[in-house]
Amino acid sequence: MTEKKDTLPNALYVHIPFCARKCSYCDFNSIVSEKGIIDRYLHSLEKEIRTIEGQYVFKTVYIGGGTPSVLTETQLEKLLFSMSRHIPVFEVQEYTVEVNPGTLTENKAALLKEYGVNRISLGVQSFQGDQLKLLGRIHSSDDARNAFTLLRIKGFKNINIDLIFGCPEQSLDTWKEDLRTAVELNPEHISTYALTYEEGTPLSMDLKNKVIHRLNESTELEMYKTAIDCLTSNGYYHYEISNFAKSGCECCHNHVYWNNKGYVGVGAGAYSFLHAVRTSNEKNVFTYINGINENKDIKSFGECLPDDKFASETVIMSLRLRKGISNADFYERFGYKIEEQFGEQIKRLMNYGLVSYDDERLKLTKKGLFVADTVMTEFL
Ligand code: SF4
Repeated sequence: MTEKKDTLPNALYVHIPFCARKCSYCDFNSIVSEKGIIDRYLHSLEKEIRTIEGQYVFKTVYIGGGTPSVLTETQLEKLLFSMSRHIPVFEVQEYTVEVNPGTLTENKAALLKEYGVNRISLGVQSFQGDQLKLLGRIHSSDDARNAFTLLRIKGFKNINIDLIFGCPEQSLDTWKEDLRTAVELNPEHISTYALTYEEGTPLSMDLKNKVIHRLNESTELEMYKTAIDCLTSNGYYHYEISNFAKSGCECCHNHVYWNNKGYVGVGAGAYSFLHAVRTSNEKNVFTYINGINENKDIKSFGECLPDDKFASETVIMSLRLRKGISNADFYERFGYKIEEQFGEQIKRLMNYGLVSYDDERLKLTKKGLFVADTVMTEFL
């Protein structure tokens, strides 16, 4: 088996599986919970964080959810303090926390700053009241603007804004308005995601029951193209299918996933990827808490990737990046050239003008970008 030297973890992910309310489209691992459970969870989480203390040198730390900002100020301080006790967070290159505009307070913003967080990902999703309502978000458009301003006042110089497009009844004009508003706020990073109807969510039930109607594909594609045009013409570099950044502000943490490199995840349902072995923690919050307290193995899933599957995943993930995947990097990791495993697929996709491939890199063409999912299935 090839030595996979660059799967060492550079990144730490910490999962906070709580939200103030479940959004209508959400199937992430999060629950609405009362204070007592969150306190118990934070206690267990610290116990798990302690088990990795001193083992790795992380370049990035990302606290996501759920909604980390749903924690009370006391709970947030406890979490940030635990992190700083066991992980050298002040030395990492990028320390991100996800924030919901509806749960940010002045004190929480100050705590995040005090404990070394240097990047905030703000879940805005839309600046339109009716869209926010349909998505079941707890915040208003004004909350989003105010949260952004507060973060700037507190000194955050690296802020991401998440936006969703392709919502029922959303028009191209309101989407343009959302993009314009985001650009006016002038964040360092903007992520634009197409709405997906996940099985079992209230939104997908409404779709099934014809209470709402899906936007047609051509409008959705038009919205994506509009985002690319609007953001790139306003100084944002389109560096990943859904992500745009000002120069030097690409998300380092997500690059670890896109490059299929190693990471450690702690918390309920969190995945880790170490030396080509992927594992995940127990997803259920209560089982996770009990497992940790009883010193049980809290891993609920594990798989060791064979070389060909590892290579295939690496190509698929890296193709999300506009710069694609470097042949030299691939060779260093797997000991052979990309075309040795994927020659036929590359030839076929090149004939359709969907990828470009030379001695340097394999990447999506602009045409390929708009059918990226289909292109990627070729490498499975
Ligand atoms: S805030 Fe995020 S994690 Fe929580 S329910 Fe909404 S989409 Fe899901």
